[in-house]
Amino acid sequence: MSLKDYCFDGKRTLKLKEMPTDAGEYKVQKSELTAQTEENMIRAAELQEKLYSAKQEGVIFALQARDAAGKDSLIKKIFSRLNPAALKITSFKVPNKTDLAHDYMWRINRAMPERGTIGVFNRSHYEDVLVVQVHQMQKDYNLPPRCKTEDFFERRYRQLNNWEEYLWENGYRMVKVFLNVSREEQKQRFMDRMELPEKHWKLSVGDMKERALWDEYERVFEDCINATATEHAPWYVLPADNKWYTRYLMSEVILKTLESMDPQFPPLDAEEAAKIPMVMQELESV
Ligand code: ATP
Repeated sequence: MSLKDYCFDGKRTLKLKEMPTDAGEYKVQKSELTAQTEENMIRAAELQEKLYSAKQEGVIFALQARDAAGKDSLIKKIFSRLNPAALKITSFKVPNKTDLAHDYMWRINRAMPERGTIGVFNRSHYEDVLVVQVHQMQKDYNLPPRCKTEDFFERRYRQLNNWEEYLWENGYRMVKVFLNVSREEQKQRFMDRMELPEKHWKLSVGDMKERALWDEYERVFEDCINATATEHAPWYVLPADNKWYTRYLMSEVILKTLESMDPQFPPLDAEEAAKIPMVMQELESV
């Protein structure tokens, strides 16, 4: 499979059951692909420097997944290879009172990176159509009746598409990533969290309860990805059972995205450039 087989940009329909959750035939290439991951991230960091210097365009990688799919470790192992000064990582937890007193995009807009910076959303605006839809939380929202319609989530999908198109037209790219972990692997990771003292801090009884809603999450993830995959704001559905493989694919997504942005160092201001010979002469004389 090549990266485009994991990419959904609105031209084909996602069927989650047909997507791999592990490295499959690529398991034999582990050392080669792990070395490629390193190279990809070195190249990505070089492009990040250009992006930062030009400050013309910004990009956000929004990470969505089931519990224990490895969002945190992907940030630790992959995004950490980029220059932290030009990186903005934001985690979206359960909305607090102030968040809920505003429209749902309020906290997202506040987390937007400046152009020239790479943003990473650990969970994102998609929680508002995923967990909210699975648990039908909108029914308890303090909203006027005209807002609590039957087509509540279709409206939200439309709003998200409009917002992401708005970003595209205003110098930003939104790249959405779904880490596709299998039910068996998630169970194993929960077991590890219970058995290994160094993993106890990650343990959440709530996460185990969500497991019972596996099929409902699958339906909603599929529906959401199909409704919001567009050419300018694509979804990547990456297998998440083998972390080394997820890291390799994520490095490919980052690199391909930055390459397609093709950032360039900005040219020196003409006035400054004209001063260079004189300044060089002065430097040489001292
Ligand atoms: P880890 O993957 O390391 O466990 P996490 O991202 O699961 O970290 P938690 O604090 O455990 O972090 O969980 C955040 C919780 O917030 C998730 O259950 C998520 O569904 C919930 N959440 C995030 N955004 C929203 C939202 N808009 N509405 C309701 N719940 C939300």
